Amino acid sequence: MKTPIPVQKNEYYEIDIHGLGHEGEGVGKVDGFTVFVPRALPGERVKVKIVRTQKTYANGRLIDVLSGSTDRAEPPCSIFHRCGGCQLQHMTYEAQLRHKKQTVVDALTRIGKLNMDDVTVHDTLGMDNPWEYRNKAQVPLGEIDGRLAVGFYAPRTHDIIEMQSCGIQHPYNDDIVHTTKEILQGLGIKSYDEQTGKGLVRHIIGRVGFHTGETMVVLVTNGRKIQNVEALVDRLRAKVPHLVSIVQNVNTQQTNVIFGRETITLWGKDSITDTIGDIKFEISARSFFQVNPVQTEVLYGKALEYAELTGAETVIDAYCGIGTISLFLAKKAKEVYGVEIVPEAIEDAKKNAALNGLTNARFEVGEAETVIPKWHEEGIKPDVLVVDPPRKGCDERLLETIAAMQLDRVVYVSCNPSTLARDLQYLEQHGYKTVEVQPVDMFPHTFHVECVARLVRQEQ
Ligand code: SAH
Repeated sequence: MKTPIPVQKNEYYEIDIHGLGHEGEGVGKVDGFTVFVPRALPGERVKVKIVRTQKTYANGRLIDVLSGSTDRAEPPCSIFHRCGGCQLQHMTYEAQLRHKKQTVVDALTRIGKLNMDDVTVHDTLGMDNPWEYRNKAQVPLGEIDGRLAVGFYAPRTHDIIEMQSCGIQHPYNDDIVHTTKEILQGLGIKSYDEQTGKGLVRHIIGRVGFHTGETMVVLVTNGRKIQNVEALVDRLRAKVPHLVSIVQNVNTQQTNVIFGRETITLWGKDSITDTIGDIKFEISARSFFQVNPVQTEVLYGKALEYAELTGAETVIDAYCGIGTISLFLAKKAKEVYGVEIVPEAIEDAKKNAALNGLTNARFEVGEAETVIPKWHEEGIKPDVLVVDPPRKGCDERLLETIAAMQLDRVVYVSCNPSTLARDLQYLEQHGYKTVEVQPVDMFPHTFHVECVARLVRQEQ
């Protein structure tokens, strides 16, 4: 007989929160049945309204905090409760850092089945000022009551929650987004409507070089022609501070993917310049560049420390993007090989190597799991391998090759503790040992957890 679910939609319950889920939501139980409650904290007793039931869990809306946690903080942002951008502003920053470390420990224990007596997970390295840290704003444009509006989508919807300013953005980006919106409004340029497929501007993107102060405006448009484009450029140049580049990207597809194929520079340079450490990078409208430059330096600094370079090493940087880690390491290594699947990123990586006069970095386009086995067969013998895969982690073929290579050191940079733990378990079973893991808070006030792990070859 099927056991009935002990909660009902639209009913109210009082529950104790005992943990946090993957997206920072509180987790509690009603008669042993799991209920997820966004913005509720462990240790709290809360009143919730059930908004959705599934076979094995339910989602509740926080109605009232009956007894609060000392980790609770007043969210500084007025739209925090509606905007999908941040998830943890209701937690003190110190508690966020603790929670992120615990997420890593839990993943290594439950998923990786690592013996935690042998692995040190350090305290999360946080920011002195965990605000205004993003160098890129990517904001949809829409219409509310006949006026243009910018803001992020409410969780799991495409309803724009209008935003006046965003606390985690660099102030220049905030300025870019609002000034550009006002200028578009003034020129009568319409926003794109997802329902009808009509209208022009889909997204406004602002980028800023933290160290150079250079700014870029990107308009993603549903079509090539922008009426009054000269006036638009003139007004942007007059009103947006530190502007060096205005770019249009054309995306006519009905899709959630932000960028289309065609990119046109409307004015100025094609890119902005920024630095990480003493390495310079040219960042074009579509380039992937870490969004938190302050913490990127901390993260890469750790990766460099774990790589233990003396200048004599051959290093492979797998999933190298535009070569950020590769070039950071190239300064301290004999040679670096970078591999990345996106051809434009590899072009940028090569340009960035030349820009910095680094001649000991080579880059190849392809899948890490195909190119690295090929390098292995060709007799390239790295001392250190750095991997920085996307959320799904490393492909098993790559892990097999890492096992076959028997390297001295592996440095694993991860944006997803679950897949990190899975991959570490594989590597532990194939000749490596995880020594330490350092979480670095790249995305304060969001649920994202980034960390870097140091592995060494096991003694035979
Ligand atoms: N290390 C870089 C980028 C990390 S993001 C940095 O710190 O800036 C992960 C990168 O992996 C992305 O650039 C993505 O395009 C790339 N990627 C995804 N799948 C891949 C694969 N199978 N082989 C190689 N690169 C891949």
